[in-house]
Amino acid sequence: MAYSGVKLSDETLVGQPIDLNNCDREPIHIPGLIQPYGFLLCLDEQTRQVVMASANTKDLLGIAPEDLVGTGLGRLMEPEQLLEVERLWPSITEQGRLLGVRLERVLNRPYFKLILHRYDDLLWVEGEPVADNSVSAFDLPTLNLAMGSLLSATTTLEMCRVAATQVRALTGFDRVAVYRFAPDDSGEVVAEDVREDLPTWLGMHYPATDIPKQARAMYLKNWLRFIADASYVPVPLVPAKHPVTNRPPDMTYSVLRSVSPIHIQYLHNLGSQATMTISLIEDGKLWGMITCHHQSPRLVSYELRDLCQFLGKTVSALLKTKQQYDELAYRQHIAQTQTRLFEQVGTQLNFVDGLYRFTPTLLDVFDCGGAAICFDGDIIQLGHTPNPEQLTELVAWLREFAPDEEVFYTDSYAQLNPAGRAIRGTASGIIAIRLAQAPSEYIFWFRPEQLQTVTWAGRNEKNQTTVDGQIFLSPRQSFEAWKETVEDTAVPWQPMEIAAARDIRLFISDVRLKIFNELQARARGLTALNIELERSNDELDSFAYVASHDLKEPLRGIHNYSLFLLEDYADKLDADGVSKLQTLVRLSQRMEALIESLLQISRVGRQELQLQPTDLNQVLAEVLDLLSPRIQETNTTVEVPAPLPTLRCDPVRMSEVFNNLLTNAMKYNTKAARYVEIGVAPTGQPTYHRPVDTSLFEVLYVKDNGIGIDSKHHESIFRIFKRLHSQDKYGGGTGAGLAIVKKMVEKHGGELWVESEPGQGATFYFTVPKLL
Ligand code: ADP
Repeated sequence: MAYSGVKLSDETLVGQPIDLNNCDREPIHIPGLIQPYGFLLCLDEQTRQVVMASANTKDLLGIAPEDLVGTGLGRLMEPEQLLEVERLWPSITEQGRLLGVRLERVLNRPYFKLILHRYDDLLWVEGEPVADNSVSAFDLPTLNLAMGSLLSATTTLEMCRVAATQVRALTGFDRVAVYRFAPDDSGEVVAEDVREDLPTWLGMHYPATDIPKQARAMYLKNWLRFIADASYVPVPLVPAKHPVTNRPPDMTYSVLRSVSPIHIQYLHNLGSQATMTISLIEDGKLWGMITCHHQSPRLVSYELRDLCQFLGKTVSALLKTKQQYDELAYRQHIAQTQTRLFEQVGTQLNFVDGLYRFTPTLLDVFDCGGAAICFDGDIIQLGHTPNPEQLTELVAWLREFAPDEEVFYTDSYAQLNPAGRAIRGTASGIIAIRLAQAPSEYIFWFRPEQLQTVTWAGRNEKNQTTVDGQIFLSPRQSFEAWKETVEDTAVPWQPMEIAAARDIRLFISDVRLKIFNELQARARGLTALNIELERSNDELDSFAYVASHDLKEPLRGIHNYSLFLLEDYADKLDADGVSKLQTLVRLSQRMEALIESLLQISRVGRQELQLQPTDLNQVLAEVLDLLSPRIQETNTTVEVPAPLPTLRCDPVRMSEVFNNLLTNAMKYNTKAARYVEIGVAPTGQPTYHRPVDTSLFEVLYVKDNGIGIDSKHHESIFRIFKRLHSQDKYGGGTGAGLAIVKKMVEKHGGELWVESEPGQGATFYFTVPKLL
């Protein structure tokens, strides 16, 4: 009896043809058929007489099956051999036992290997013809070597590669591939040893449906399946059904069992004539398979198959350890990368720099395609990521749909947001950590859609095979079917990766909180390290205040008396005396101005800042209004290219800062057309040379086209009473203005500095914390 296409024999059909829709229910354990390279005899457990025999006994043993039924094994073997078999029976279970026999009564090919097992209330005798009947010696050196390399493999994948190589070296198959099953039961070729001229299957994926449920169940029971020639014509049993149970016997443990025609078709489509499959089982679950393929028929001896099965069991036993090792290694990698990243973040003025400017970067923490930092209006991309516009949209989506999630993750963004399909090539999988304080600031890791990284070597329309109008499984179809199940999805994130992302978020929050607290403490004059300094500064401020306040009184007297002298006694003095008195008046005036400056500066130190959200545009507008006569007088153009921010600061002090800097900008300027620009320094590409964490500080500037300042004075001009010019030049001054401005800026937690060259104008920069 033969079958073609999808048609199974009536015995196995149970009334209907098997196709892809119902192959999950195909009763593959009771096909009632065997492969023709051997013979099968089913014996009654009690009588030890043949109940069923395969139809090919006439060809292989010279005795028709009908003639064997009802007789014992004595028909085939000498009494000593029969005794040996009889002696074995009591200890035989469903696990096969091999016996090399010479069947003297079989004329042409007398040597057989008999494989005995007990199952379904039957004693099974399967015979495989061989050249001689010696059971080849257990090849210990080969086994030793194979075991050694399996044990020393450091990763699961390496062990799989070693297993593929060992099995191929032992058996000589064209190709040995190791498949691993995903949680959804789809499979992937993870290791391979293949004849050089054949295309690789490495990385191929196929859907769970390629291996029907009941085949999986069978693979768990039966560690090894072997098909010597996929073009075989199956041999039925005679009689087809067990006379007592009235059904075909359960061939779960039969080595000759005929396989599903769908599977045979699949093998044809793969171009495979002989196959051997070894189960890889971990914790009672099918982890994967070692599959061997050959382009021509191939009879692998039972002993060799046994050896391969042993290797499969060894790999299975080692799987847990190797996978634990893999996990540990990855966990260690994450931990080490994290630690180094944290060190970098900790030592950088701007923590963002620590995340991407050095090695390792954020990208190195996980197995991922890309990473991005969206922070303070900047977007930093590492590896393969969506473009900035798409990242902005992603941030907007997260703000709307996951506003409360500090750590958001998905392996299929497109399933949550259909618009996400546009970025599935880079960002099907996303971990997003929201940085504290500002909702639109995120750090991302991305994984591409699985399909983007997958190849299917047999991706060729020709592989589609139609038989009786039915399209059969083929590599191409497998790929398409698998594609449907994984479309828009990335390799899922592991719990340890999510946990690590959470740690990174916490660490960054901590770093930022520390900076924030330091700033606040500084603003309150309470910085732990500077407490002593602040205290002595306070004392100095108080001293300056008391001294200048007390000095003011007698000085005023000196000044007034000098004036009286001038008014009342000018005519009694000569010109020289009058001039000296005039100098005395001028000097006392100057001294008064100096004391006033001192008072002012001590006041800045002593008074608490009145912090409040302040629109700097408004502050500046008031200052410009106040200075407008001066602005007109000096023919100055004041420009503010972009609106200034609203910051939490003291508006009165801020207006003094602007007032001072603007006054100086007009004062130290000899141009006919004076120009002053006030604005916020652009972030990203700094035009200023001082490193500033722009995520924490706003950088403002006042720029003029005046006389400029030599770099050697860039520090000293901020010292109190330091002037670069003689008293009569540039309208005079006490030299306290910049010292006062500096003190006010620092009181807010910011910094003040200048960038300038003589003749090139000057730009004064000052920073104000954003978080205050
Ligand atoms: P004052 O203006 O009273 O002299 P300041 O403390 O405001 O005191 O300035 C200190 C010195 O810095 C000034 O004497 C001047 O030489 C220099 N300076 C300040 N602002 C400018 C500017 N915009 N351009 C050039 N030089 C400046």
